[in-house]
Amino acid sequence: MLLNDRKTTKKSSARCPICKKPTQNSFRPFCSKRCADVDLSRWLNGHYAIPVVEEDGSIPDNPQNGNREE
Ligand SMILES: [Zn+2]
Repeated sequence: MLLNDRKTTKKSSARCPICKKPTQNSFRPFCSKRCADVDLSRWLNGHYAIPVVEEDGSIPDNPQNGNREE
């Protein structure tokens, strides 16, 4: 049963996306739990957040935010 043989690519040159060190099997695709945590924290900080798409690209005037509150 070697049908999936082509899928199992043995990448020995995989690198940690955080610090560029060789990855560890236990923490792939990272080299350590620390780098995995770094990536996770980036997620939580909205680093990879999907940008908000403004409808029609127009910014509606906000009546609550008038310029009379100086
Ligand atoms: Zn790393």
